Parts: sequence; C-alpha cells; structure tokens
Amino acid sequence: MSKERRIIAYRKAAEAMCRGEFTQDIPVTGNDEISHLGKSLRKLSTHLQQQYHKNQLLSKITLESNLNLCISDVLNHIYESFNKFIPYDRMSLALLENEGNTLKLHWVRADYQTLKLCTGYTIPMSDNNLKEIIDTEKSFIINDLESYLESHPESDSARVLFEEEIRSSLACPLIATGKPIGFIFLSSRKSNTYKNLHQELFLQIASQLAVIVEKSKLYKKAKINKQLIEHKKELEQRVTHDALTGLLNRTAIFDIFHKQIARAKRGGFSIAVIMIDIDHFKEVNDSYGHLTGDVVLCEIADRLLGSARSHEHLGRFGGEEFLAILSPCNKDGALKAAERFRTAIACKEVYAENEFIPVTISLGISVSTELDTLDKNILLRKADEALYMAKNNGRNCVEIAMDSKNK
Ligand code: GH3
Ligand code: MG
Ligand code: MG
Repeated sequence: MSKERRIIAYRKAAEAMCRGEFTQDIPVTGNDEISHLGKSLRKLSTHLQQQYHKNQLLSKITLESNLNLCISDVLNHIYESFNKFIPYDRMSLALLENEGNTLKLHWVRADYQTLKLCTGYTIPMSDNNLKEIIDTEKSFIINDLESYLESHPESDSARVLFEEEIRSSLACPLIATGKPIGFIFLSSRKSNTYKNLHQELFLQIASQLAVIVEKSKLYKKAKINKQLIEHKKELEQRVTHDALTGLLNRTAIFDIFHKQIARAKRGGFSIAVIMIDIDHFKEVNDSYGHLTGDVVLCEIADRLLGSARSHEHLGRFGGEEFLAILSPCNKDGALKAAERFRTAIACKEVYAENEFIPVTISLGISVSTELDTLDKNILLRKADEALYMAKNNGRNCVEIAMDSKNK
C-alpha cells in the first residue's frame, strides 16, 4: 500500500475515533515510521474503545442507581460487567454498623462455590487495619495474602479468605457525603493481581456504590416508617371498629357520645340518640343460617352508614343493635334521620347467599330537651323505651320518647 493511501487511512481512522467509532481498519504493513504510527494508532483505538466502554458501564450504574434501589441488583450488574477491566474471582460489600464500631458483610459473590467468608460475618473495627483505609480514603492492595497473614496473624478475615484460596485483594472505602459507610472488596485467587491502574476505576465504582447504598438506606427507612404508620392505623382501626360490620364499636361510639354531650353543653344545643334493632333477626338466623345472618347484618350496617349524614355518628351497640348519635339535632331532624334509616333497610330485600331476604328495623329516638336530660344514661334509657314501643307497634317503624315528643 502506498504511503499516501496509508496516511489517508490513518486520517480516516482518527476522524472515526473522534466520532466514537473505534475501527480496527488501520493498515500496519511495512516496517517504516508510517507503519509504526499505524501500530500506535491501533493501540490508541483499542485503549479509547476500552475507556469508552468503561464510561458507558459507569454511567449505566449511575442510571441504575437512580432507577433501581435494589442494591444487590446493582452489585450483580457490576460483578458481571467489570471483569473485562479488573480481574477478580470474588466481590463483596461490607457496611459499617453500630456507629462505625463493627463491619458486617452484606453481599458476596464469587466464581467458585466454596465460600467461607459469608454474609453476616461481622468484625469489630477496633482490631482491624481497615480503619487505616478509612482514614486515608484510598484503596488498598494486598497482592500476597500469605505474607500479609504472616505479618498480621490476628486478622481472622484474611485467614478465612486464605482458606478460600484467595491470594490478592483490593479494598476500597465507601464514602457517602464525606462519611465512611463501608467497603467494597475485589479478590483474586492469583497472587500479584492488582495494580495501581485498577484502583482508579475501582474508586469510581465505589463512589457510585456509596451513593446507591445511602439512597437504599433512606428508602428502607422511609419504607419502614410507612409500614409503621400503616400498622398503627390498622391497630387503631381494630381498637375502634367492629370486626364484622366495620362500624365503630361500642367503646368508640360511646366515646363520641361523651364528647358530643360535652360539646352540646358548651354550645347550648340539643342532641339525639337513635337506638336501632333488626326485626325478627333470630328468624333470619334460624331460616338461613348464622353465616347468612352475618352477611345480612353487614349489609344493614353498610346501608345505615351509607345513608348517615356527616353529623350522624353510627356504631354497633351490640348483637343486632345499632346506635346513632346525632349532634347537633332536634326532634324534627331526629325523626327525619330515623325515617331515612328505616327506608334504607325496608326499601329492598337483602341479597345474601343466593336468597332475597326481606329485612326491616325498628327505631327508638330520644332527644335532649333540657340541660338535665343531656345525660348518656337518660338518653339511652329513653331511646330504649321508644324502641320497645316501636316493637310493640308492629316493628318497621320509628318511635320517639315521650319527653322528646312533648317538647
Ligand atoms: P325482635 O324483632 O324482637 O328484635 O326479634 P329478634 O329475633 O331480632 O330479637 P332477639 O333479641 O330475640 O334476637 C336477636 C338475634 O340476633 C339473636 C342472635 O342470635 C342474633 N345475633 C346477634 N348478633 C349476631 C351476629 O353477630 N351475627 C348473627 N348472625 N346473628 C346475631
Ligand atoms: Mg335485639
Ligand atoms: Mg331484633
């Protein structure tokens, strides 16, 4: 090939490299200076290609760290990608715990099966020279583990790694927002594996990892907090709500009752109580079974709750009885609300276990007419008396206690 054609080929190769295309189409025939230039260009192309690939992998990890907070996924990805640039048979991540006093192995992967230093392995930082690495914030190479062990016979981790047939190791501290959080280790079963050139890339990987570890810790904390809040809500719900119908339980509705009495006393307004009882519910149980009875009970609770207004508090009083506290409320309001509840149940049969079951309720109202009737026991007793009247009047109806009526 003529000198001119070779020079043109080199110029084209250089221009292609500028565009990120690493062509190997670089003629190196002959033994003159131009050919030497061609060989250097080839080396440069290979080197640039590797750098390019390395940077791509690093930015991929950065991207992953933003998308994926699962640290083990990122570590597996690193393990599978970087052995083209750094030799290793084993990689592990250890994190500082207990305010930096202990170091615990969190993740490990190796090309061989006989792992002896496994996740969960914990060492105190006090008697361990990894502390020096933290102080210098630089990576640390052991290229002959056997002689390292001779000079550091106290190092249990080095001894176990030696039993795994590891001979070289590269340790790098993980620093997040200026604080050491742990280490990443690469190890090889060959002696003299690690060179200074490996350290730079490893430090870059480590700085990315530190960010991911920090993020995943925050993520975990947020997740635990969310779980705790949900758990607390669930417990509160269990304490205040009836398990079968989901309505407020007796304690919770009584709690509201007490608060509304106090409010009414302060505000000088009246409140009403409606005692609700399902008619002939025993017959529903006897005819369709107790489980179907439960379904009917729940449907009635749903309908009552669905037809209650915001100032009408509803709870399960016990068995097949419900209690509504209406505050503020006068006689007319209470009668309207009770009629609304009654029709919500009587308007259509309850569909349960392939059966259409006709159900009705009876309701007894008491209203606090005077300050001295603004009392829980008086209101409950009067509402119960009114309910008894409703039952006597043929059921599926509303009755109001005498005192309330007279007002
Ligand atoms: P009345 O019209 O006079 O109120 O007649 P009733 O049959 O509804 O009254 P009674 O008090 O005699 O019976 C109430 C029945 O409600 C008895 C009990 O087995 C049933 N019951 C109470 N709680 C539950 C429950 O949680 N599930 C089911 N399925 N039945 C219940
Ligand atoms: Mg009853
Ligand atoms: Mg009943």
